[in-house]
Amino acid sequence: MLRLVGLMLGTCVAGLLVWWLVDIDGRLNRTLFGSEGEVLDSTEIEGAFPSDPLKYGLDLTGCETLTGQVKRNEFLHDILSPYGIGPVELDVMGRGLKDTFDVRKMRAGHPYTLVFDHDPDRRLRFFVYEISRTDYVVYSFDSVITAHKDKKPVRVETRQTAGTIHSSLYLTLDQQGASPELAIKLSEVYAWAVDFYRIQKGDWFRVIYDEQFVDSQSVGISHIKGAVFNHYGHDYYAVWFEAHGQEGDYFDQDNRACRSTFLKAPVRFTRISSRYTLSRKHPKTGVVKPHFGTDYAAPYGTPIVSTANGTVSEATHSKYNGNYVKVRHNSTYSTQYLHMQKIASGIRPGVRVQQGQVIGYVGSTGLATGPHVCYRFWVNGRQLDALKVELPPAEPVKAEYLDAYEAVKREMMERLQQIPVPGREEVALTK
Ligand SMILES: [Zn+2]
Repeated sequence: MLRLVGLMLGTCVAGLLVWWLVDIDGRLNRTLFGSEGEVLDSTEIEGAFPSDPLKYGLDLTGCETLTGQVKRNEFLHDILSPYGIGPVELDVMGRGLKDTFDVRKMRAGHPYTLVFDHDPDRRLRFFVYEISRTDYVVYSFDSVITAHKDKKPVRVETRQTAGTIHSSLYLTLDQQGASPELAIKLSEVYAWAVDFYRIQKGDWFRVIYDEQFVDSQSVGISHIKGAVFNHYGHDYYAVWFEAHGQEGDYFDQDNRACRSTFLKAPVRFTRISSRYTLSRKHPKTGVVKPHFGTDYAAPYGTPIVSTANGTVSEATHSKYNGNYVKVRHNSTYSTQYLHMQKIASGIRPGVRVQQGQVIGYVGSTGLATGPHVCYRFWVNGRQLDALKVELPPAEPVKAEYLDAYEAVKREMMERLQQIPVPGREEVALTK
């Protein structure tokens, strides 16, 4: 990544810090980041001897630094010209080093650091601009100007949390200061097993996961290692297992894959507004008729996914169904998704779709009162209740990996069982 325009010599020597720390910690950090383009504090002098002498891969011992954030309508010229950087140097940075970083892409709110020699001349040695939370570019000023891009060290922490559901998984995690991303990741792990639209008060969970940090701020949850979700009194374990040389996946306490043929629902984080029933008063017409689908209310434009692999058999429009897609999964099963705002591009009869692939967006086309997707589950040409259909059991762990999985599972289940679940005792007492 180093693009040399000339040779750099100086007292500040470039170094590299690789920092990898694994630790168990029950605490959770909230992510606090200014959004793109947001202007935070203005420039301030950090001090002659920074407390962290190794920063941006530079040994800053004996250097004076000045940090700031790019202000709105502030250009490289405004930041650097007070420090003796003239038009020739700015032209080198703007054009000569454009392949390393295009300075026109500097954005308001992003931090930068100026590094000076600690001598009476206070000569500018480095200009560091943070392109993103992890990536930065370093300009070195000497007889010639050089630039290189690099990444900050990412620290991974293994963390754990638990909770009892009082409203939704999302809100429960939010109240504990956990990232909403954890709710999304958990719902992905359990997309096949737990019906998040029928979560009941008193359901509880424990989870062990990896979170990534840059400059002690969270940049996201990288991986769920194991979890248990207690839903309607049943424990659903999900243990990440990677057999040697195989792609990893989640398996349960009975050594079966958590992943199975059908997802529980075609949309995420919504609520069921109307269930499959043989007699329903239609909300729009008032006519009592059977309702052969499960309605999931969701905001306009929410992606609708195919619940299983298959081939699109219909992608069209009708008076009552509105825009809809029907997917044939095999000779037995088909699923159908009604009232779409629009069908996803490329979805037409004959096209293969994968489980979880977006096939359209929630709308209210056809006979619908508000935005929702009516999900219909066809078994041998008959429409059945998707929430009640008995589906084929999931694949078990392959026999040759069973011993290895048993060991991983035992350790993970023990770790999970030691996490205290807030609110669980109270629930037990009130029952
Ligand atoms: Zn419906």
